[in-house]
Amino acid sequence: MQPTLKHFINGRWETGVTLGVSENPSDLSEVVAEFARADAAQAETAIRAAADARDSWADSAPQRRFDVLDTIGSEILARRDELGRLLAREEGKTLPEAVAEATRAGQIFKFFAGEALRQTGERVPSVRPGVEVDITREPVGVVGLIAPWNFPLAIPAWKIAPALAHGNTVVFKPAELVPACAHALAEIISRAGLPAGAFNLVMGSGRSVGQTLVDHPLVDAISFTGSTSVGEGILKAATARRAKVQLEMGGKNPLVVLDDADLGRALDCAVQGAFYSTGQRCTASSRIIVTAGLHGRFVQALRERTQALVVDHALKRGSEIGPVASEAQLAQNLSYVELGRREGAEWLTGGERLQRDTRGHYMSPALFLAEPQHRLAREEIFGPVACVIRAADYDEALALANDTPYGLCAGICTASLKHATHFKRHAQAGMVMVNLPTAGVDYHVPFGGRKASSHGPREQGRHAAEFYTTVKTAYTHAS
Ligand code: NAP
Ligand code: MG
Repeated sequence: MQPTLKHFINGRWETGVTLGVSENPSDLSEVVAEFARADAAQAETAIRAAADARDSWADSAPQRRFDVLDTIGSEILARRDELGRLLAREEGKTLPEAVAEATRAGQIFKFFAGEALRQTGERVPSVRPGVEVDITREPVGVVGLIAPWNFPLAIPAWKIAPALAHGNTVVFKPAELVPACAHALAEIISRAGLPAGAFNLVMGSGRSVGQTLVDHPLVDAISFTGSTSVGEGILKAATARRAKVQLEMGGKNPLVVLDDADLGRALDCAVQGAFYSTGQRCTASSRIIVTAGLHGRFVQALRERTQALVVDHALKRGSEIGPVASEAQLAQNLSYVELGRREGAEWLTGGERLQRDTRGHYMSPALFLAEPQHRLAREEIFGPVACVIRAADYDEALALANDTPYGLCAGICTASLKHATHFKRHAQAGMVMVNLPTAGVDYHVPFGGRKASSHGPREQGRHAAEFYTTVKTAYTHAS
């Protein structure tokens, strides 16, 4: 048995108040890690450490921040295979997907290392003679980072890296399902040259550790990725005490397929977007809206492609779809499959629990023909469950695509420049994909959505500065 994973608080590894266990969803006989869990008081210790380190890190030189982040990025990239393997074991995405995620986490740290050097401001003439105006960005202070389980390396990376690059100190609370990934990241960060307290890892439940971060007066800003329901509670609590808050929440992302689409490409986009990573992506295509002329052929081919997907152990060569991450998520997925049948959606394939050589949370990818009003077609499921909705033409497809409380990503497959251009402009989503899957984004450009999917400034790329800094306007009279 490996040693119990510890919290990282004020530059030291600390035991917790209780213990938790992280399981391998591909093989429930394997314990991935035993980990320390904090209570609210221990979370508060980490918050105080971050507050004490605040000035020293805020005053650090850009070269030092660059060096720290670049060191972290280099180590992640050098160890991407090992980290990817850990991720695949703990979260259940396939090994190639997991290695790609580890790579992305390394690239994110490298990108934000550069951002630490590229801090800029503006000097503008005052409207008054003899006065100069400087507009600069300063760190926000202590940031609380709360992450979900589905991208256990990349999402923490895209919060921690910009937070540190812009001079903030961090308390990071990972999801309880993925402590080993969080710990591996923290272990790399712990050796990169930060002052004690600048980065803290506290593991434990959302209700206790997460809520303490949200409510604590020393936490200046909260960046949260997770479900809409938890996000809404965080928004209320953080706003009430005027903390800065950024939320990335759910999605019910449409992929529109028009009659003139390249059928092979559209199928690739649908299969990849709906089912890869076991459908556990906030950008997954869970509503596939197909116009009448291609509908019959598309549905038949998509059904065949879905049935051919290989669902197995995340580490097995040839696995295309790993297990669902947890028993609770699997139960939710299966209950939506049941609901779909009950409410009259036409079942095409999948949606069944599967047995494999090892005992794990396996299910076959599910495909339905649904009507726009079905709950199956409206609510986020966060699993390998997709539905096809028929549209008469482009105009109806666009209206259906936008008929959702969510607005994270929207995709279209078409050969028409006119429709692609119109869709890019009129899709009510933060991100739009043309002839690409809705899931799968670059790391150097903004990420985020509209409506119930997001709140606050965008994450990633240069736009991350909006959340992780606060603007100062300074006036100087020369005499
Ligand atoms: P979740 O239940 O909302 O949990 C997200 C994080 O919040 C976890 O670390 C959780 O801790 C914590 N938390 C729970 N209750 C809390 C509270 N009262 N106060 C503070 N923190 C609290 O989401 P999930 O089940 O991990 O992830 C699935 C959801 O995330 C899906 O809805 C998906 O769409 C969304 N998601 C969105 C994006 C995006 O960028 N838009 C990306 C990935 C996932 P625990 O460890 O106790 O669970
Ligand atoms: Mg949850």
